[in-house]
Amino acid sequence: MARNSTSERAAAEALAIENRRVAVEDPALMEEVDLWLSGRARNIRLKGRLRDLYRERTFNQSSLIVRSWMGSLLALDVMGSVLNFALLERDVAIQALMPSLIIFIGALSVSIVYRGQRISYLQDAALIAAMFVILLSLALFGVLAGPAFYERYCAVMIFVAISAIVIFSIPLAMTWSIAAIALLIHAGMMFSNPLMDALTAATMALFFGAGVIATVFARRTASVIAQKSFLLALRDLKRVSDLADANTRLELLARTDALTGVANRRWMTETLDALWSDDAVSRRVAILMCDVDHFKGLNDALGHLEGDQCLREVAHVIRDCIRPGIDHVARYGGEEFLVLLSDVDAFDARLAAERICRTMEAALLPNPGSGVSRYVTVSIGICTNDTNPPVSAERLQRHADEALYLAKSRGRNRVVAYEEATAAAGSLRLTSYLSERSAAG
Ligand code: GH3
Ligand code: MG
Ligand code: MG
Repeated sequence: MARNSTSERAAAEALAIENRRVAVEDPALMEEVDLWLSGRARNIRLKGRLRDLYRERTFNQSSLIVRSWMGSLLALDVMGSVLNFALLERDVAIQALMPSLIIFIGALSVSIVYRGQRISYLQDAALIAAMFVILLSLALFGVLAGPAFYERYCAVMIFVAISAIVIFSIPLAMTWSIAAIALLIHAGMMFSNPLMDALTAATMALFFGAGVIATVFARRTASVIAQKSFLLALRDLKRVSDLADANTRLELLARTDALTGVANRRWMTETLDALWSDDAVSRRVAILMCDVDHFKGLNDALGHLEGDQCLREVAHVIRDCIRPGIDHVARYGGEEFLVLLSDVDAFDARLAAERICRTMEAALLPNPGSGVSRYVTVSIGICTNDTNPPVSAERLQRHADEALYLAKSRGRNRVVAYEEATAAAGSLRLTSYLSERSAAG
């Protein structure tokens, strides 16, 4: 049972935290917070959602206080009844049982209602109703004891009301209600006291009234301070959340290629490092080096801006050809993209590379400067990590690069795997391609 209520309380607390986290993302709400904290408002009276959040935030603590106050009252009530039977005549003690019982029921009901973890108007109503019957019953002791005891019991009643006003962290309207109940009962008792003239009754009512009202004002100041620190905590929460967002954006920017929106080389290097530092060496991965054919020609023919646009589209075509969340693409250099395929063998890798090649061609992106086609094409070099012993990430990239050079030398717009690049015929063509490039450069 105790564990149940503890876990319920923890769940309510977690929900309250989540509600506040969501709430700080509401600009209108945060504007209200800033307005209250701007210093223009000396008195803080939270309304609507802010008030609900504040009560949710303070409810656990205030319900604990209310319940322990009611618990003390219950103990005093029982002790009083026992003493009555011990010290007073039996008839008088039995008569005093009635108000004692009312106090007992009132205090017990509030303790039960306040066990709930959610704030409800039922709890507010129960507290006010219980305070009414408790204070009335205390006055009733005086009525039972006779006019000579009115003042004594009224003083006790006011003392009880003041302790509740000071200690209960409840909405101000409820505090005022408790004060009003106490003062009305007190004034009623004073004016109905046959041993007291009207002037003395009025003076007594005024004296106690001033004391109770001063206490309510002190309670109001304490409540304003508590609400202010709640608003400050909300503002801090918002700042922390903004900072976390900014960090996330920054991290994303640091990982993203500004032109194409795909990952950049830095991210891919980190990913490969992480993969290889893991036990991933044994995993089957493949690297595809994709390079746009005769891209310089495209730039020359259509201009650099068109070249930029083409790079964006090439990046998107490649991205659409791979499995989201499993494979990755990064812009590796000017018009060069690295694709990392996970859990593939040489056959799957080739299929994926062929798909990229064919989709690129089918995208019909014009490249008037290409000697291969009227449209943009790519050459792809593949290297798969299924060798034994496994190779490092750098070596895998180098091999994929060599395969790419061979794809270029074989006429571009094609896929070549590293194994082919190691063949002697390939090596010859590779040499000629490399010398063609160095002559062009
Ligand atoms: P190959 O088929 O052999 O790959 O020929 P290529 O013309 O594509 O290769 P080369 O390396 O000679 O030229 C690459 C060109 O890519 C040169 C450079 O101006 C261009 N480039 C690099 N980065 C960018 C960029 O961000 N935007 C644009 N528009 N062009 C770029
Ligand atoms: Mg190129
Ligand atoms: Mg290149």
